[in-house]
Amino acid sequence: MSKHEPVLLKNMLQPGYTGSLADYEKTGGYQALRKVVGKVPPTDVTGTVMKSGLRGRGGAGFPTGVKWGFLPKDYQGPRYLCCNADESEPGTFKDRQLIERDPHQILEGILLACYAIGAESAYIYIRGEFVLGAKILEAAIAEARTAGYIGTNILSTGITANVWVHRGAGAYICGEETALLESLEGKRGLPRVKPPFPATHGLYNKPTVVNNVETLANLPHIISRGPEWFASIGSPPKSTGTRIFCVSGHVKRPGNYEVPMGVTFRELIYEEAGGMRSNKPIKAFIPGGASAPFLTPDSLDVKLDFESVAAAGSMLGSGGVTVMEEGTDMVWAALRLMEFFYHESCGKCSPCREGSSWLVQTMRRIVAKRGRMEDLETLVDLCKNIAGRTVCAFGDAEISPIMSTLKHWRPEYVKMIHEAEAANLIHPKRIMAQP
Ligand code: SF4
Repeated sequence: MSKHEPVLLKNMLQPGYTGSLADYEKTGGYQALRKVVGKVPPTDVTGTVMKSGLRGRGGAGFPTGVKWGFLPKDYQGPRYLCCNADESEPGTFKDRQLIERDPHQILEGILLACYAIGAESAYIYIRGEFVLGAKILEAAIAEARTAGYIGTNILSTGITANVWVHRGAGAYICGEETALLESLEGKRGLPRVKPPFPATHGLYNKPTVVNNVETLANLPHIISRGPEWFASIGSPPKSTGTRIFCVSGHVKRPGNYEVPMGVTFRELIYEEAGGMRSNKPIKAFIPGGASAPFLTPDSLDVKLDFESVAAAGSMLGSGGVTVMEEGTDMVWAALRLMEFFYHESCGKCSPCREGSSWLVQTMRRIVAKRGRMEDLETLVDLCKNIAGRTVCAFGDAEISPIMSTLKHWRPEYVKMIHEAEAANLIHPKRIMAQP
């Protein structure tokens, strides 16, 4: 039992809670919407969210209220809200739980965001594999529509807010907000070159906000309990509120844990997730999804907030904390992640498309005990030629498993290559092994 009071997971932890509209309303659900719609100016809702310090929970951590504030004030045409439910980052599974167990919490957040930014249509772009989640959301939308929370003239205020579910087709890159918009428009999901940004040229070239599921789920609580309450939780002023961390890997109790921002990795792993499954010491952990560089046990006392994790050389990212015990082969682990990125590169820009192919081929060769010492320089060179030279942040993400394992566990690469040399597996004149 966690010593921290859950906020987003609170309802679903109650015995018998089904996530239905009736259950959600019994917990005070939709009271935040009733409190503000038609009564409080939308700009005040944005101001409240700004004051709370809420930052995006999808990966980038951009301040939510500030993002809303970028929408042009005097634009008279339609504007859109997109809920990014394309949760695909390896090691991340919190949005799925929120969707399947408490869908109305997300819908209320979506309606509040629609009201704040003046959007009459919201789209939930959900990962294609989340078939159950999509069905649950559809059913919840139907319930909310019947109850007058969704549709035209919501709560008899004359305000329109419609919500639609759109299922993706299984591409990781569609979690990138502009690729998501392209896909929603019926095109191939490729990231757009920015600027312009979605705030001015988003869905159908109209002003658009894209927010993550967990981000939106926080809104009813911020409106109900006040921005000061939210800002007092966590590591103010820059990392406020709670955060759901998805703990996976070699721990006793893998799962989703909601804790205030600012607790340490040690507490999350040893107290919340029960420690290591085999009582072996930790060798490595990824602090924020596969895109985040690995950290070592030296960083166990780092706080789980945006700034502290960045100062430690990684990022909080999507909140996926993957823990690896002593004995884990770090070269193999880096290759597994690299295989994922190679598979998911959308191919739009050559440093990522070609670079990921070369990286994975070189890594496969090393793991197959056919590597050469110069392969290590090749890996670094390839990574340097990808970093900062791609259309989207995927390029920087895909190099982190290799760069961080080379930084912390280079001797493991060297050992593997020396073993290959000792076994005389390498022909001195070989140019390039096939994968
Ligand atoms: Fe596509 Fe990779 Fe370029 Fe992003 S960095 S646009 S995923 S090819």
